Amino acid sequence: MEKREMMYEGKAKKVFRTDNEDLLIVDYKDDATAFNGQKKGQILGKGAVNNVMANIIFQMLEEKGIPTHFVEQLSERETLVKAVTILPLEVIIRNVTAGSFSKRYGVEEGRLLARPVLEFSYKNDDLGDPLINDDHILALELATEEELELVRRYAFLVNDALKEFFLEKGLKLIDFKIEFGKTADGTILLADEISPDTCRLWDVVTNEKMDKDRFRRDLGNVEETYQEVLSRMKKQG
Ligand code: UDP
Repeated sequence: MEKREMMYEGKAKKVFRTDNEDLLIVDYKDDATAFNGQKKGQILGKGAVNNVMANIIFQMLEEKGIPTHFVEQLSERETLVKAVTILPLEVIIRNVTAGSFSKRYGVEEGRLLARPVLEFSYKNDDLGDPLINDDHILALELATEEELELVRRYAFLVNDALKEFFLEKGLKLIDFKIEFGKTADGTILLADEISPDTCRLWDVVTNEKMDKDRFRRDLGNVEETYQEVLSRMKKQG
């Protein structure tokens, strides 16, 4: 596999073309941003943690029948993935109240929701990723009805699988964001990443925040926390 020119550089990853047009290489960076890019910094070692963790999780999800873009890890920070066009949607599932949900609806953080909540945001940094609903998505043709149905179904399956997976590691899955992509032949795949940058994870025993909120909220021990989450991911069971 030959790594060719950079196609795209995002906030946390670079994407390179390869000699196969159906495959791309993602290269995870240590750069961290929050509040729509207003807060910037670095979390040393984060790129490697997120790469390895996302790959462990994508392989676990594949085994449960959720198709992902994962092909093969190439190095500590690089992974070969299937080329997709990302649907311009952030798919968020919440099990426990936190973050923008708590702010928007005036609910304290940490309340177990009576049922998981799925939210869509329109992926558009200039607009600050505004919340949208199914009608908006269909009217703006961001996805078809069939695609939307599949995305919903996969998102709840991902939630069930992740909740169980993290609980075995002593972590409560509060909420998370995922993204889906479409291959050249129209197949919908789970893409992007699943990591402490994109999930809220609280320690089961202490309720300590074990995710990017340590960076967002200046809680300290940011690097150590990412390493701790990775070491728990690698433990069997
Ligand atoms: N999230 C993300 N990228 C975003 C926005 C949110 O990965 O651009 C994740 C975030 O880490 C959390 C979940 O989605 O696990 C819900 O985030 P929320 O809407 O509460 O936003 P925040 O409080 O992070 O601004």
